[in-house]
Amino acid sequence: MADIIEKPAVIDPPPNLRDYDAMFGTFKWQDAYDRIEWFEDGTLNAAASAVDRHAESSRKNKVAMYWEGESAEKYTFLELSSLSNRFANVLTDIGIERRDRVFIFLPRVPELYVSFLGILKTGAIAGTMFSAFGPEGLYDRLHDSGARYLITNSKLLERVQGIRDDLPDLERVILVDGTDHSGTANAADASDAANAANAADVAENDVIYSEAIASASRKFDVARMSPDDPAFMLYTSGTTGKPKGVVHRHLAIAQQHATTEWVLDLHEEDIYWCTADPGWVTGISYGMLGPWSCGSSIVVHDGRFDPNIWYSMIERYQVSVWYSAPTAFRMLMRAEGAHRGHDLASLRHICSVGEPLNSEIVYWGIRTFGLPIHDNFWQTETGGILIANYPSVPIKPGWMGKPIPGIKAAIVDEAGKEVSRGVEGNLALLPNFPSMMLTIWKNPAKYEEYFMGGWYLTGDRALQHEDGYFLFIGRADDVINTSGERVGPFEVESALIAHPAIVEAGVIGKPDPLRGEIIKAFVVLSDGYEPSEELEAEVRRFVKTRLAGHAYPREFEFVETLPKTRSGKIVRRMLRAQELGLPIGDVSTLE
Ligand code: ATP
Ligand code: MG
Repeated sequence: MADIIEKPAVIDPPPNLRDYDAMFGTFKWQDAYDRIEWFEDGTLNAAASAVDRHAESSRKNKVAMYWEGESAEKYTFLELSSLSNRFANVLTDIGIERRDRVFIFLPRVPELYVSFLGILKTGAIAGTMFSAFGPEGLYDRLHDSGARYLITNSKLLERVQGIRDDLPDLERVILVDGTDHSGTANAADASDAANAANAADVAENDVIYSEAIASASRKFDVARMSPDDPAFMLYTSGTTGKPKGVVHRHLAIAQQHATTEWVLDLHEEDIYWCTADPGWVTGISYGMLGPWSCGSSIVVHDGRFDPNIWYSMIERYQVSVWYSAPTAFRMLMRAEGAHRGHDLASLRHICSVGEPLNSEIVYWGIRTFGLPIHDNFWQTETGGILIANYPSVPIKPGWMGKPIPGIKAAIVDEAGKEVSRGVEGNLALLPNFPSMMLTIWKNPAKYEEYFMGGWYLTGDRALQHEDGYFLFIGRADDVINTSGERVGPFEVESALIAHPAIVEAGVIGKPDPLRGEIIKAFVVLSDGYEPSEELEAEVRRFVKTRLAGHAYPREFEFVETLPKTRSGKIVRRMLRAQELGLPIGDVSTLE
């Protein structure tokens, strides 16, 4: 009974100022197109639509970005617009052409944000790479994309030097060094930067960012793009295999703008923190384009994860809307109590994406912040949110929510036929929304593989309840078949982490002569717990009370950490490979 009171199956929404129901009732994508900025001739540019329109309005002196790294800086919409214009001029001077790929390999410094916008403004395609990648991950991305220019710093350039000769398309490196991020570098900064660059074995035609941008004009004639012209590309997380190069169009900003309002509930006066790195799609769609397009101020933290630092960021900047991922929330849960002593009263709305959100995390949100965490589902390929617990509908903890307006999601069988409500199948979408990928770079065959009978297949297994909510079951490759029953790892992992001794769990099917597969759980214990047979038996009993009889782990392994992608997702294929002594496949994206 206590369980039911503390952990309700449905959480009602707070009264909301926006009339979502009216908005959703009559929605057509044209409504979303009307809410973004276009040029008079019917063309657009996502960077101009996100930032320049505010720079040309009464909002021009509003802070667009609060940045905190080794120091703290602020950038207004006008400053971001001018700096990105300058950078676009730098690129134009060195001969950039439309559709050239320009990749950014930087920590979350302001130049990352400025150069991303600047690249889009020229009509070239911006690519991003997470700053933790090693030479192999970099080679895969730079080689596959045929990147012509690379923006990085001297320290990270060291990881590129060994592969540079094998990248025939890479003409120049643009080096971001020195301490001045504002583009108005004084002579001392520029010479510091030049010294750092010299030490870094720079090639003759490489460009020093601070020097080049300081002398470039603030005015730039932004490239007018067709809605379907490519704007940015990036590689998927590599959870299920080799990362795919996904290309997105300028028009995607219409969906990013609309969903930032509807799902993240962002209002102009909000201070918003998306913790995702722009090396991943969340850090682009909802770390830059969506929130800026809505005229909100974003917070960027260039530094490592640390519960105390994270809570101080929320407190210092009075963050009201926070978008993060289950892996980060689980780490914060593990540091239970770290929020005490921080005033987090500014928080109004919290969302999560990237992996299934265990209901335990939703309840932890209520206990810790007085707010439930809202799950939403989408993919690198879809460029924007598709299924969500949006603010005006009740949350069902453990469920992903309902499709947003304009999205038709369905569960289909192997033949692409819709199945009945409540039946597990392939999660599919009608691919008619603006943030849908344009293509997989240089791999049209791979792109085609996503489609069947008019549906786009996500590669995920799910079911839809009578009431319209979607439940994530697992990635198609991860679903377990035990004694003729299909079990999704997510439900078992969620039941495991509901036990106080367990902070994280990865569950796989292990081949078994009798049962086809048995469920094996790799678990990370909370601080203060030790592995023991008694604990194992207790956890097994605990899971049995929560799940169907067959869906409990017969085998346990206590581990210190789980294998994860660089973006923090549990990689079950690697647990399986380790278990079976098989080759682990492409691990270039793993820690
Ligand atoms: P790869 O495609 O290279 O194997 P990936 O699928 O992890 O990697 P992303 O595009 O970053 O790459 O992640 C999208 C996937 O993440 C989804 O297909 C789904 O499996 C998972 N995911 C994202 N959000 C959610 C969510 N809210 N609930 C459940 N799963 C989610
Ligand atoms: Mg994927």
